[in-house]
Amino acid sequence: MEYLPVGWRIRGQWALVTGGGELALSAARRLHAAGARLRVVALSVNEELAGLAAHTNGDVVRRKYRSTDLEGMVLAIGAEDDAAPNQTLARDAEMAGCPVHVVDRPELSSLDLPAIIDRDPLLISVHTGEAGPVLREWIRAQVQSWLPARWGRVARLPGEFHDRLAAKLPERAARQRFWRRVLDSSVVEQMLAGKEGSARQQLEDAVARADAENLAGGEVYLVGAGPGDPDLMTFRGLRLLQQADIVLHDRLIPDEILAFARDGAEKVYVGKARDKHSLPQDNINDLLVHYARQGFKVCRLKGGDPFIFGRGGEELEKVAEAGIDFQVVPGITAASGCSTYAGIPLTHRDHAQSVRFVTGHRKKGGAELDWAALIQPAETLVFYMGLVSLPDIADGLIRNGMDANTPAALVSRGTLDSQEVVVGTIGELPDQIARREIHAPTVIIIGGVVQLYPRYQWFQRDPD
Ligand code: SAH
Repeated sequence: MEYLPVGWRIRGQWALVTGGGELALSAARRLHAAGARLRVVALSVNEELAGLAAHTNGDVVRRKYRSTDLEGMVLAIGAEDDAAPNQTLARDAEMAGCPVHVVDRPELSSLDLPAIIDRDPLLISVHTGEAGPVLREWIRAQVQSWLPARWGRVARLPGEFHDRLAAKLPERAARQRFWRRVLDSSVVEQMLAGKEGSARQQLEDAVARADAENLAGGEVYLVGAGPGDPDLMTFRGLRLLQQADIVLHDRLIPDEILAFARDGAEKVYVGKARDKHSLPQDNINDLLVHYARQGFKVCRLKGGDPFIFGRGGEELEKVAEAGIDFQVVPGITAASGCSTYAGIPLTHRDHAQSVRFVTGHRKKGGAELDWAALIQPAETLVFYMGLVSLPDIADGLIRNGMDANTPAALVSRGTLDSQEVVVGTIGELPDQIARREIHAPTVIIIGGVVQLYPRYQWFQRDPD
């Protein structure tokens, strides 16, 4: 290992920065954030940097660097634009035994300044040394997206409760067991989801009892997985999926998304094919409660958005009744994913000022659609679950006054590699579909916006 990573409490101590431009400024910001006093030495120093130095109770010296500038410094940063002065600084610092970092010159530096992810008091640093700043920033951005901003609040808890807990549990190992249990409990997710009041209350109680074993562990996450392309999941959805012990899914969830679940998570198929109900809704409800009660984190993955034709509300009924913690994570709904990946905007200044999501699925003996209400000028209609009843839908719309030449498109397996788009008019689409093999799931988009196809078409995956 090239470096020893450490956290250095530098508050109140002097640090030297040579250079007066952007490089120096960005180093100075870091030192300022850590509470160091700044001495900035450079022929010309930009205003912001000078202001920052003043703010740290430091000083600005407007001339070339001299080796005596190192006196009293615990750290030196070379951020001159030219190589020569940086080299001089590095040599002087080495002789003086002062740690030195020269920006982007690891070979001149005894110290690497990492990229950081700041969830104070939690601090994650990324050192790349010779591999350079681009990789460092890239990794930082990746890691950052995994740590919700509120993690800092969770990280502050052990410090906050330390004295009270230590009075109850003097033994360090016992306290560590306590906190490990807290991290596994639903307290963390509640904090991250902003339910800080109830999270703290639970923690208060656990501290008072000096026992975290009874903290609720079980929770239910109802997560919208989007229309199929795994990249369309939300950060939160993915994070919850990855921490689930049990994943309940149906056939709309592709294997690539299930593969995000952690090793060892149990995957339970609760899907239903049309007319083949493999698990009635009630049983899914019961399963969610059953697993959560045993202390498991249960992720119910739904295609698209759980609250759009997803029966998300119904699935949560018993969970809510049982007083189990739950979260709902929105997803990109099929209308949105399919239209975007087909290159058909759902609204457009010249064609549609509103958009309506309609279910084409008809319960036997269920109510007819309100056809007249569906025929509005400048409105896009998106039918979900409409493949089987497409002829009826087209017929109903035309009979009630829709122009048979209204543009219409069917998007099959939208956002997946196997996506197919069939474009025509509402009059012809049923015949076009009847003549070819179409794979579910599909949405049907009807309205003037469809004539924009294929102007904005961008998505095409080469078949394997
Ligand atoms: N909650 C989901 C909808 C569930 S109903 C959402 O918000 O998208 C199931 C219907 O969604 C399917 O019959 C189909 O009409 C539509 N659907 C879901 N995924 C789709 C996809 N990848 N391509 C086309 N249609 C899709």
